[in-house]
Amino acid sequence: MRKILIILSLLTLSAVTATAGEGTLAFVGARIIDGTAAEPMEDGVVVITDGRIRAVGPRSAVTIPGDAKLIDVRGKTIMPGLVNAHGHVGGTIGLEGGHYNTENLLNQLSLYARYGVTTINSLGGDGEEGFALRNSQYNNDLNRARLFVAGSVVTGDSEQAIRAEVNRNADMGANYIKVRVDDSLGASEKMPRDLFDALLDQAHIRRLPLAVHLFYLDDAKYILEAGADMVAHSVRDLTVDEAFINLFKEKDKCYVPTVTREVSTFVYESEPEFFSDPYFLKEVDPAVIEELRGPERQARMRNSRSAQGYKKGLDVAMANIGALYKGGVKIAMGTDTGLPGRFQGYFEQMEMHMMVEAGMSPMDVIRASTGVAAACINQGDIGTLEPGKWADLIVLGANPAEDIQNTKTIESVWIAGNRVPE
Ligand SMILES: [Zn+2]
Repeated sequence: MRKILIILSLLTLSAVTATAGEGTLAFVGARIIDGTAAEPMEDGVVVITDGRIRAVGPRSAVTIPGDAKLIDVRGKTIMPGLVNAHGHVGGTIGLEGGHYNTENLLNQLSLYARYGVTTINSLGGDGEEGFALRNSQYNNDLNRARLFVAGSVVTGDSEQAIRAEVNRNADMGANYIKVRVDDSLGASEKMPRDLFDALLDQAHIRRLPLAVHLFYLDDAKYILEAGADMVAHSVRDLTVDEAFINLFKEKDKCYVPTVTREVSTFVYESEPEFFSDPYFLKEVDPAVIEELRGPERQARMRNSRSAQGYKKGLDVAMANIGALYKGGVKIAMGTDTGLPGRFQGYFEQMEMHMMVEAGMSPMDVIRASTGVAAACINQGDIGTLEPGKWADLIVLGANPAEDIQNTKTIESVWIAGNRVPE
């Protein structure tokens, strides 16, 4: 495989589209934000060999190998590719679910990548095709977003059924287990707590972390006390209190706000602002926009009790991001994209912009969307620009630490040292 790649690379690729597989690349002269707690570094160098970062540091401290292909990135900013701690991949085409297949998975993983999202932690709805793509991505020829999978969202009406479903996902090779402890604003029954306890126990027996879809503060407290690993949505009924913040820190778990999910539940009641953003329009199917503009559809959303309920929930969610951030809770970027009306790639960036609106500093939002998110999904070889890690990175025309909107100035995206096709 390696040999074939090298030959193909020599035959067809110019320096700019070079694959790391053919040798060594050196990005020279950029401001580097590495996704760790470090501050941005000016005039930096990133050296990539065989899909992985070999060296990163100030130009004065990094020896560039003689055979490296140099890429001049003076005046640009390099940061790690974005890691979405909560997405869904492969099921939706247009505004319709039920289309899960390999082709759709690959299309969506490429779409994410073009927006700089280089890893998606899919929390449910994953079939065999997704597991197979996950298994095939540990290569230096990868040029679409990485995918991690949870399998099915676990449900069941007995302890036995629930443990069996966790086992089924674990046997397939799931990276995470996902459960909902929610009543959809009163429209459905919550999972009883004894069944939740059995589910968490079984996930941990299988050494898998548990991500929990929830709405209420009371449930968030319960699942954290019990030992769950990720709060996969915002607390949206009440303002978080000091006891909750302290519990969160004591347990050292991850909070994934997914506020753009909330936006998607009501925003199509009228014409959203982003329908005139060229950065959105360049990837979206115009037929989808037309459908969302339909007056009847808009009216339905305006009159939907659940849409209006989630709209109120968004205000609470935004306030809670601010409070949890000030309180020192670990926050990771996640969106719940991939369902109809939740636009992959564009919404990850919108999520970051909203996290800043909610009170986080741009640098901390960048960390939440790279190194912290990677740690929250237990993927130690992505998320930061450090030697030995996969070379998943974004080259930006303007500095996102100065203005988070600059995440939209993507000039190129690289995964395992390969330039993502535009
Ligand atoms: Zn979800």
